[in-house]
Amino acid sequence: MQALISLYDKTGLDSLAPALIEAGYSLIASGGTAKALRGLGIAHTKVEDLTGFPSLFGGRVKTLHPAIHGPILADRSLPEHVRELEDQGWSPIDIVIVNLYPFDTDPSVELIDIGGPALVRAAAKNFASVAVVVDPSDYGWIRESLATGITIEDRRRLAAKAFGYVSAYDARVANWLEGDDSPLPTHQLLNLRRTRELRYGENPHQPGAFYIAEGAETGWAQAQWLGTEEPSYLNFFDADGAQRLLERLGDRPACVIVKHGGPCGVARRDEILDAYVEAFEGDPLSAFGGVVAINRPLTPELAQAMLERPKFDVLVVPSVVAEAEQIILGKRRRSRIAVFPGAALTVGIRSVAGGYLLQPPDELETVEEFRLVTSRVPSQAEMTDAWMAVAVGQAAASNAVTIVKNQAAVGVGQGQPSRVDASRIAVTKAGDKARGGAGASDAFFPFPDGLEALIAAGVTTIVAPSGSVKDDEIAKVAEDAGVSLLFAPRRHFRH
Ligand code: 5GP
Repeated sequence: MQALISLYDKTGLDSLAPALIEAGYSLIASGGTAKALRGLGIAHTKVEDLTGFPSLFGGRVKTLHPAIHGPILADRSLPEHVRELEDQGWSPIDIVIVNLYPFDTDPSVELIDIGGPALVRAAAKNFASVAVVVDPSDYGWIRESLATGITIEDRRRLAAKAFGYVSAYDARVANWLEGDDSPLPTHQLLNLRRTRELRYGENPHQPGAFYIAEGAETGWAQAQWLGTEEPSYLNFFDADGAQRLLERLGDRPACVIVKHGGPCGVARRDEILDAYVEAFEGDPLSAFGGVVAINRPLTPELAQAMLERPKFDVLVVPSVVAEAEQIILGKRRRSRIAVFPGAALTVGIRSVAGGYLLQPPDELETVEEFRLVTSRVPSQAEMTDAWMAVAVGQAAASNAVTIVKNQAAVGVGQGQPSRVDASRIAVTKAGDKARGGAGASDAFFPFPDGLEALIAAGVTTIVAPSGSVKDDEIAKVAEDAGVSLLFAPRRHFRH
């Protein structure tokens, strides 16, 4: 048995190569990889010794040779192929381990890998006999499977991953040649792989599926769904929205509840249980059947407290102990728990007829970027509430006006075509809790009416982007009412 190894990123070679030897493989390696193996004291044959050619043209031609590609591509089930191998004096190659020159940090023509993709594609095509490994995170289970042999199902999955890997790589090269220097990982969109059939789409009569983006190492690609029921499209969508807001809120124990694409409960506290209770109390009516996300492990105590309150559809947690999982899923068989590893924010994408709209994530400002334009100076606590109100508004559909008090959302007005209506809804939802709270508007107030609604409800600190022709008038209304008005550096529309 032979394994061919040609790695740009040699991470994990030190554990994989000895395991291959142990399992009875002879190793064949390209130049730099051979050198690394020599350093590790692991026996191998150099590609040059098999091909009879040195690495040519500054490394442009290394493994591109029939003596390498023949033993990978020969169909072992065809006697004539087997005979041809024998006639040439070649032994078959059974496993191919390759990763390509990186093409994202500092692209150049020299970094366009040619031989690597050829090896990957050849091995993937012949998955009936050959295992192709392109992802170092697969080394672990590959090592463990060597003794019993890598199954045909595994080889097929590895081949699918390998073709995806090469196609995303080529897309990156294509984007670079086109002069697309956008920071959006568009190549990921060209290699979407369906990994989960969803219960249904936005509505039960629409099918839905989750596609994983090539190379995605975090986020939903790595999440684990617990429970017997498959999640639906909206479960995913709302769970993602809840998780994004949660991550923006920082390290303090926090809970976010999302319903129909927008936050209806958000709170930060010293204890996660208190954060959950406060978030829930923010709008208990709306929280029913929503998505709850927390940034601490799910404990049995917390699970018990959740059972005492109306049902959620999905609970998103960073980790869960078996006992807590049982408490929830034992009682609520149709609920789902998503164990979510955390994520870097990804590109935003929407479909329109004939194409897609793409944009980078919407950045959230820091509290230091607010500019006070009235004489009343907000307390530290009010500033924190004001910032949190902006964060909540950013996660809500526009127009959004939000009220936060003591680090808990008490009134969220969202999805309104008119800003004053968003203010009125926020105020109505907050009731008495608006008093002494901080209000935020996700874009400037075009007229004073929205601001006046917040002031009338007893909000003492208000933050909104500047930019209205009526900015001065709006600042004066705030000044005359004795409340603090902060201008924020940017708006946060979200549709
Ligand atoms: P090494 O460090 O072993 O010399 O090179 C490993 C890298 O070379 C891998 O990233 C692999 O994809 C790439 N590679 C393998 N064969 C060829 C080839 O024939 N031409 C080019 N340009 N790259 C190759």
